Amino acid sequence: MKFIYEIASLGLLLCVCASHGFAQQPSPPRQPIIDMHIHATGWDHFGNPPPPNALTGKVPTARTDKEFMDATLAELRRYNVVKAIAGGPREHVSRWLAADPGRIIGGTMMAPRFPLPDVKMLREDFHAGRLGVLGELGLPYAGVAPNDEQMEPYWALAEELDMPVGLHTGLAPPRTPYTCCPKFRTSLGNPALLEEVLIRHPKLRVYLMHAGYPYLQETIAIMHMYPQVYADLAAIDWLRPRAAFHEYLRALVREGFSKRLMFGSDQMVWPEGIGMAIEGIESATFLTEEQKRDIFYNNAVRFLRLDEKKLARGSSRWGHRRTSAWSGLAVE
Ligand SMILES: [Zn+2]
Repeated sequence: MKFIYEIASLGLLLCVCASHGFAQQPSPPRQPIIDMHIHATGWDHFGNPPPPNALTGKVPTARTDKEFMDATLAELRRYNVVKAIAGGPREHVSRWLAADPGRIIGGTMMAPRFPLPDVKMLREDFHAGRLGVLGELGLPYAGVAPNDEQMEPYWALAEELDMPVGLHTGLAPPRTPYTCCPKFRTSLGNPALLEEVLIRHPKLRVYLMHAGYPYLQETIAIMHMYPQVYADLAAIDWLRPRAAFHEYLRALVREGFSKRLMFGSDQMVWPEGIGMAIEGIESATFLTEEQKRDIFYNNAVRFLRLDEKKLARGSSRWGHRRTSAWSGLAVE
């Protein structure tokens, strides 16, 4: 509701400007944003009809996969989101990649209805450029801990290929174990469970999706001890009460992690969640402009090793700084 109010007040502001003769001034272009966490799924991923946006009460209007994809891509363009990591079932991710190859970086999905593809297929997808990030790994939804033996081949693969990994940490929607995912356990979202994995695979490039919320102490402990670990702020930046999110974000920034926090939306089936998530960061008055730019863009460029010049030209397929696995050029 707050967001709608702000849109309304923005409209008012524009009217005031117009009456003062500024109407011809083009608005400055939005600064680029990287969204570390969107989902490429079917429009009916959560059922038919789709559930309403928990904040606005608005039911998504898309009734085909293409309508849902187009609506999400339109939001990405509107906010100048130049890259978005799209996790989802393989066939949906392929579709999104084909529709906007310059913007979408392919991800995967692990959840009860969507077991992870086998290691061989992931390796092929990586080399073919269809897979850029191993995530979202929704391990808690499947009742699996990060340090579970069955995950070992995946950690080894990501480390070998130097492929970033996005691990779901923290919460899920209320009642999740009673509904979709009987094996879900809140405790499996505790980032502390990643520690043994980080020790066995010191070169793993992993980010904590949802920044471990609400496990603040454990998130601080892991990010302090393992400086290679980054975190995204997805979902909590628009779905948690704003004051609670800002308190959490402020605590992480106070700990000195502003160079390792990255923007994410986790729009799920609600494309407007992207703008609402951006507003969640924009409205954090305790952040400096530099910290906001880091969170929206710079930290993800560094974590993903994107080539900024190519990003600016918007010409490359992915804009990755090529890893040795791809073309033999030096890795940052
Ligand atoms: Zn998640």
